[in-house]
Amino acid sequence: MNLTFASITEIADAVKSKKVSAKEVAEHFQNRIESLDGRLNSFSSKNSHAVHEAEALDARIARGEDVGPMAGVPFGIKEMFCTKGLPTTAGSKILENFVPPYDSTVVARLKKAGIVVMGKLNQDEFAMGSSNETSFHGVVRNPWNLDCVPGGSSGGSAAAQAARLVVGTLGTDTGGSIRQPASFCGIVGVKPTYGRVSRYGIIAYASSLDQAGPMVSSVKDAALTMEVISGFDNHDSTTTQRSVPSWSRHLKTDVKGMKIGLMKEYMTGGLHPDVQKTVENSIETLKKMGADIVEVSVPMTEVAVPVYYLVAASEASSNLARYDGVKYGYRADFKNLSAIDLEEFYSKTRGQGFGKEVKRRIMLGTYCLSSGYYDAYYNKAGQVRRLIMNQYLEAFKKCDVILSAVTAAPAFKIGERISDPLTMYLNDIFTTSTNLAGLPGMSVPFGMSQEGLPIGVQLTAGHFEEQKMLDVAYALESASPVKGKNPHVV
Ligand code: GLN
Repeated sequence: MNLTFASITEIADAVKSKKVSAKEVAEHFQNRIESLDGRLNSFSSKNSHAVHEAEALDARIARGEDVGPMAGVPFGIKEMFCTKGLPTTAGSKILENFVPPYDSTVVARLKKAGIVVMGKLNQDEFAMGSSNETSFHGVVRNPWNLDCVPGGSSGGSAAAQAARLVVGTLGTDTGGSIRQPASFCGIVGVKPTYGRVSRYGIIAYASSLDQAGPMVSSVKDAALTMEVISGFDNHDSTTTQRSVPSWSRHLKTDVKGMKIGLMKEYMTGGLHPDVQKTVENSIETLKKMGADIVEVSVPMTEVAVPVYYLVAASEASSNLARYDGVKYGYRADFKNLSAIDLEEFYSKTRGQGFGKEVKRRIMLGTYCLSSGYYDAYYNKAGQVRRLIMNQYLEAFKKCDVILSAVTAAPAFKIGERISDPLTMYLNDIFTTSTNLAGLPGMSVPFGMSQEGLPIGVQLTAGHFEEQKMLDVAYALESASPVKGKNPHVV
């Protein structure tokens, strides 16, 4: 069995039927991480107990216990997710020594399903970024071209998955952080409907937008992972009571008669020619498969980026207020603590603990929320957000799934945009409106640039319509011209 390219189900079945031990699987991927990650920097820390935990799983299998649908499947977890006993830094110095005493709901559910956590994955600091260049743990490199960014903020997840250092990874998506790096690294990334997946134990960036999801190598693996992590959670009152569908079992490539919406506002040109071609190819493919192409319009998406940055920064400024150096996390070095006034304590600790981009967002958000500006910025952004959602709801009366580019261009060079925040924020032009409207969205690999960089296609569906979106992705995947292509690093 070729473990490196095996799917989640293939690994789990082989482990459960004792064709291979969970220990062998864990060792195989541990060796890959050791020999390849030096070039990528996708792991921020490794789980030194991984092989031992795999052995414990083998022992349970030997005793005839039911170990779950993901028995022995090696996973990498983004730094945003609390993992009991493993560092959870959010890519920030301010949490450099933080080791949570509990698992986030998502991680607890995956563990119950049998995964083996191989380690934590690098990301932009507090998930703020589109290039994985703002991490306290350093830049992550794109396995397809080591001079390029892997995208962000879940850049470590995307790079590790594309290089097959693990069989599955988790990411978070507040404004595109699962879909954009998935596109840049040629993997499948899904952001579920807001409320589908519990946020309990995930470090909060912008709570009304944050959602966790799988970043994996196939649509089926994504559907399976979503089944494990989704569903109501007592610890998160925003999770839905709806039951979790068996997406993976219902997956079909038959898209005959399905209505694929092309958003007028997203089809205005300005795309990199290779991205344009990838989108056109995907439309042609779906047409040939019998899908109907219809035009839809969501005019307000034009302002999605500014609205997103107002909402996200405001919520971030409030969420990040908890990092004060008192209860946990980094504290500036004070010789004589009793002689320090509180303001100095906070400002020195936070001044040293947060990176530049995070400070920029905190200041922007604090400004938006301050009296006198609250109505003009935060409130107004909330109102426009509602309009964006209403327009989407109208659009989904005419189509099942909306298809578009994920980003205007493929992965860019490391260092190219980091000193220009506005250019960096424009990366999020096609992804943020999905979060503002609370809709599910995903990226599926469908093209390759002239330079050999992967390009994904974005699919968005109505609230809780993940099945439709996954089906279209499954159809595209089955006909993808880049199927089976892997980066050189592998
Ligand atoms: N690039 C966006 C930002 O910097 C999205 C990040 C995310 O989805 N976490 O906020």
